[in-house]
Amino acid sequence: AKKLRIDKLLAHMGLGTRSEIKKAVKQGKVTVDGKVAKDSGLIVDPAVQAVAYEGEPVVYRDVVYLMLNKPQGVISATEDGRERTVIDLLEPDDRLLQPFPVGRLDKDTVGLLLLTNDGQLAHELLSPRKHVDKTYEAWVLGDVGSDDADAFASGVELDDGYVTMPAELTILEKAEATDMDREQAGDEKFASPIRSLIRLTIREGKFHQVKRMFESVGKKVLTLKRISMGPLLLDEGLEQGQYRELTEDEVELLR
Ligand code: URA
Repeated sequence: AKKLRIDKLLAHMGLGTRSEIKKAVKQGKVTVDGKVAKDSGLIVDPAVQAVAYEGEPVVYRDVVYLMLNKPQGVISATEDGRERTVIDLLEPDDRLLQPFPVGRLDKDTVGLLLLTNDGQLAHELLSPRKHVDKTYEAWVLGDVGSDDADAFASGVELDDGYVTMPAELTILEKAEATDMDREQAGDEKFASPIRSLIRLTIREGKFHQVKRMFESVGKKVLTLKRISMGPLLLDEGLEQGQYRELTEDEVELLR
């Protein structure tokens, strides 16, 4: 956590304007570690010092925006009875600020996940009316072709009858599929001698959407990685499981 002026801290926490807080400090209403603060310019570290206003502890919550390269095997939730969550990957200092994941990636999906405690921004990014673009890269069992690109561009019907919005499919690479791929796919109906590396941009976020879109055209997603969300691009310098704070520019782009 960072150090800051005590008047700024208290104003930030909504306890009054800077001038009201200056006055309160003069009146001896603010304490730091039990001692009366004499100067409203006093620098404090709210993570380690106990600040109180009129005897009430002030729990500091700064806003935080984190970009995580989510690894496989962790759940995109703040709490889970049994499973490891993305919050478990954070440093204690960052966990203290109570960030939560903006949207979800499946347990086996890797890549870009934004974590923040800015509820307003999260709400806006997740709003179905906003249609924030999400781009994924996937290895798919099957020979993905221009017929699939056309189908995704016009919308495909998922197993529950939902018809997807137009999505943009790019085929990047083809390779020979292995027995392991076919085994992983599980069902004989997906068996194919070919695997395809693709990029897909969707503008909505239905449950297991990318996987279900491919299943609707008879193909099986083997690995899935999110590389962007709206204007935010996954920092390729982040190893899976690593994260960093967004830059000011990135936060601005999201607003
Ligand atoms: N689509 C999926 O199927 N899974 C994800 O995790 C994200 C998008």
